[in-house]
Amino acid sequence: MIVDFHVHTFPDKIAEKTIAYLSQKGGITPFREGTLSALKAQMKQGSVDRSVVLPVVTAARQTETINRVSAAENGKDGVYFFGGIHPDTEDIPGTLDFIQKSGLRGIKLHPDYQGIYFNDPRYLYIMEQAAKRGLYIVTHAGRDIAYPDDVHCTPQMILQVLDTLRGVIDNKLILAHMGGFDFPDDVLEMLCKKPVWMDTAAVLDLYPEKCKRIIELHGADRILFASDSPWADPEAFIRILRSFALGEDAEEKIFFANANRILHLS
Ligand SMILES: [Zn+2]
Repeated sequence: MIVDFHVHTFPDKIAEKTIAYLSQKGGITPFREGTLSALKAQMKQGSVDRSVVLPVVTAARQTETINRVSAAENGKDGVYFFGGIHPDTEDIPGTLDFIQKSGLRGIKLHPDYQGIYFNDPRYLYIMEQAAKRGLYIVTHAGRDIAYPDDVHCTPQMILQVLDTLRGVIDNKLILAHMGGFDFPDDVLEMLCKKPVWMDTAAVLDLYPEKCKRIIELHGADRILFASDSPWADPEAFIRILRSFALGEDAEEKIFFANANRILHLS
C-alpha cells in the first residue's frame, strides 16, 4: 500500500486558472490537472492507494467553504482531506471544532501564502487549539518558490515554536518538505530527532542524498511519504524512496503505516 500524504486539488471552476497562475509564479510545471477528479484518475492509473489533500486557505472568507467541501469529500475513493484555517479566520475555536467533529484529522498552514511568520502568536494560538482537539498540524516549511527571498517558516522559527508549545504540540506537528524546503543542512543539524513529523513532498528529487540522511537520522517512525502532486509525480518519488534501500520495515512505515495511524485507518 502507498499513501501520499501531501497533495493539492482546486475547485473545478478555478483549477485551470489557479494552476496556470501558480506554475507561472513558481516557474514549475504541474504533471496533472488540478481537479479532484484528475487526482482520482492519477491514483487509478498509478500505485498510490490513498491521498491526503491539504487545502491552503489564502483568504479568511474561504474558510467555511473549504472545510465544508473537505468534510463532504473526505474518505471517498481513497482521498482524505485535512481542514483549512487562516490567521484571520473569524471563529477559530468553532472552525477547529467543525474540523474535528467532521472526522478530518488535522489542519494545513501555509505561512507564505497566509502572510504570517510561523512563530507569530496568532499561529501559536491556532496550533495550540488544534493540538488540544487531537488535530495534527501540517505546515509548509522552508523556502517557497513563489517567495524565494522571504522565508516565513525557517528551522529556527520551528525550534522556537516547539519550545514555546512544548508538551502541547509534540508529535502533532508535520513539517512539509523534509523539515524545510532548501534547508536540508539546518534540518539535519537542528530538527532531526525533535518530536515532529516530516513529509517528503517536493524535495526528494532535488537533493535525494540529503533526504536520505535526514530520514536515517530522524528515523522512519516520523517520516511520511508525500509528493506534492500536482507539482511532482508520486511515481517518480516512490522510485527515489525505494532506491534509498532503507529496508522493508522502514519502507512500510514511511509508505503507509505512519500515515494510516494518523488517519485512523488500517
Ligand atoms: Zn504543497
